[in-house]
Amino acid sequence: MSSKIALNLTTEYSINFNFPKRSKKKIIFIIIHYTGMKNELEAIRKLCDYRSKVSSHYLIKNSGEILNLVPDLYEAWHAGESSWKKFKLLNKFSIGIEISNPGHEHGYKKFNSNQISSLIKLLKYLQKKYDIKSKNILGHSDIAPYRKKDPGEKFPWRKLADKNLCEWHNLSIDQIKKKRNLNVSFFEKKLFFRNLHKIGFSKNVKIKNKSYSTYLVKAFQRKYRQNLINGKIDQECFLLSKNLVKT
Ligand SMILES: [Zn+2]
Repeated sequence: MSSKIALNLTTEYSINFNFPKRSKKKIIFIIIHYTGMKNELEAIRKLCDYRSKVSSHYLIKNSGEILNLVPDLYEAWHAGESSWKKFKLLNKFSIGIEISNPGHEHGYKKFNSNQISSLIKLLKYLQKKYDIKSKNILGHSDIAPYRKKDPGEKFPWRKLADKNLCEWHNLSIDQIKKKRNLNVSFFEKKLFFRNLHKIGFSKNVKIKNKSYSTYLVKAFQRKYRQNLINGKIDQECFLLSKNLVKT
């Protein structure tokens, strides 16, 4: 089977990537982003412009068309300062996928069904090719919670989870919703963060004048409790974290 045909790939190269080529084994993660720009064409241009110093391996257009901007075996520049588990600076170990969306600063909108079905195809293809674990398919805000919000709370992680393309909980949404806004004890708060670190979220990031823990809670909520992002740990968040560690 020709994967290019199956994926409907268009190649439009970006020169923003590192030499030398990396080995296949180095590709452990897939990081999902949104472009965060109003105009799709401008976003593509930016990712290909040497002055911008950013790039990604793939870009999924509003139409669902997939562009391959950087070959997989070269390190693209999409993750920046980032960490997950024992890994730091995840560009080295990942493939980056940008999805066209204006993002939080320019009128964040729902990802459309063409984009999501293309993404699912691409993820399945890459996962198989590089033997990537589902739990290593992550969002930019997972690996850089204090800087990034993408792909954000409108991103359908649940749909990916249904296809076994990301880590998920096995709790009933209706059941745990009853625990929303219920206080957690000091001890449960500590456990919550311990659970997050077990999942992979980084702990030792010091930021001046900003509370890292609030960013961390928000990043967690953007993924697992998308209809309330308030940065506060409640029983619902606590139970989600507990379940994710177990699954
Ligand atoms: Zn991003």
